[in-house]
Amino acid sequence: MNIALSHENEMLRDTVRSFFENEVIPHEALVDTLGEVPEELGLNIVAKAKELGLYAMNQPERFGGGGLNHTQMAIVEREFGRTSHALHSWIARPTDLLLACEGDQVETYLLPCITGEKRELFALTEPEAGSDAMGMKTTAKPDGSDWIMNGSKHFISAPTMADFAIVFAVTGVDETKRGPRKRITAFLVDRDMPGVTFREGNKCVSNRGYKTYELVFDKVRLGPGQVLGEEGRGFELAGKWLGMGRIWVGATCCGKAERMMELATDWAANRKQFGKPIGTFQATGFRLADMLIGLRTADLLVMDAVRRADAGEMLDQDAAMVKVYCSEMLNKVADDTVQIFGGMGLMEELPVQRLWRDSRIERIWDGTSEIQRHIITRSILRPLGA
Ligand SMILES: Cc1cc2nc3c(=O)[nH]c(=O)nc-3n(C[C@H](O)[C@H](O)[C@H](O)COP(=O)(O)OP(=O)(O)OC[C@H]3O[C@@H](n4cnc5c(N)ncnc54)[C@H](O)[C@@H]3O)c2cc1C
Repeated sequence: MNIALSHENEMLRDTVRSFFENEVIPHEALVDTLGEVPEELGLNIVAKAKELGLYAMNQPERFGGGGLNHTQMAIVEREFGRTSHALHSWIARPTDLLLACEGDQVETYLLPCITGEKRELFALTEPEAGSDAMGMKTTAKPDGSDWIMNGSKHFISAPTMADFAIVFAVTGVDETKRGPRKRITAFLVDRDMPGVTFREGNKCVSNRGYKTYELVFDKVRLGPGQVLGEEGRGFELAGKWLGMGRIWVGATCCGKAERMMELATDWAANRKQFGKPIGTFQATGFRLADMLIGLRTADLLVMDAVRRADAGEMLDQDAAMVKVYCSEMLNKVADDTVQIFGGMGLMEELPVQRLWRDSRIERIWDGTSEIQRHIITRSILRPLGA
């Protein structure tokens, strides 16, 4: 890593790195070619990750999780980012939203996700409501003490078929000073409930083998026990997760950028043209210098944000800055790495083209760069009443 770590955190980083180098990264090319992770391989990674205590590391120890703090999770996510999401996401880091589980929900949803008996989906996006999440059309209408859900979600991603989804739906409309505002509620929806369909959706060229699913809800009856958190407070709940999710995106971007830079450096030092290593041409050497500046800045931004998070002081704009800077830094590093490799950078025989493709999604999911800039702009102008 670019920045100093404590001895304990260095050991954590080295454990994850050696596990990934020996057990995960060697399978990347196969997974990319197949367009999926063979189940046996996925389960094998899960079993070995559990042996090392790397499964559900983000969750509190009192529930059986690894109990890592945000700083340690950033170190781990950075190592995960060195390889494809298709592979590392088998090692679950269950969403913190599940910590809102109460009563029976803890036994039914939270704990099985930590032990690995169940997997969850985070289902916000709809075909007509991407960046504009408030535009969602999925509804859950009250029916006595129950709710009837209708609608659909898409681009809901996971390494393999999940058991249930945290689904955001409109449960009413509030009149506010700024006009009517949809009430959004989060529900725990099982895949095998009557009227629920989970099916594989579009195939993404970033992280081939990491699946997206379409979810359809046709008159699904949900009891009061299926509401996660408070009715009408779904966005506040989602916001908690989205913020940290953006930090993890930033950390994974740093890991992937570091790996690409290692490849680019090695190539620049060894590939000769005009009788010299191409790295000695200023055009190539300066690309490496800019990569290092970008990577170190990105690492520092992530570390600053997780320190704020550990202190309970992280703001939406902190997470937005991490997301936009790290993902754009990675895409610059990825493009420059291809350029340094020349034609070989685009050949299937080398990992460069795959890492370049895998990098592209980072500017889109978890809120696009444009949406992050909106969040940052709002934080600048709102205090001035603009
Ligand atoms: C592989 C993959 C996995 C995903 N996993 C999940 C998941 O698990 N759960 C989930 O809920 N969602 C998931 N998503 C959805 C993801 O969060 C959305 O794709 C993303 O938020 C953008 O929405 P969109 O694709 O509909 O693009 P759009 O919202 O249609 O945006 C298209 C373009 O318009 C721009 N734009 C839109 N509005 C504005 C504006 N106001 N100002 C400036 N520019 C704007 C965008 O920045 C973008 O460049 C996933 C997506 C992908 C591709």
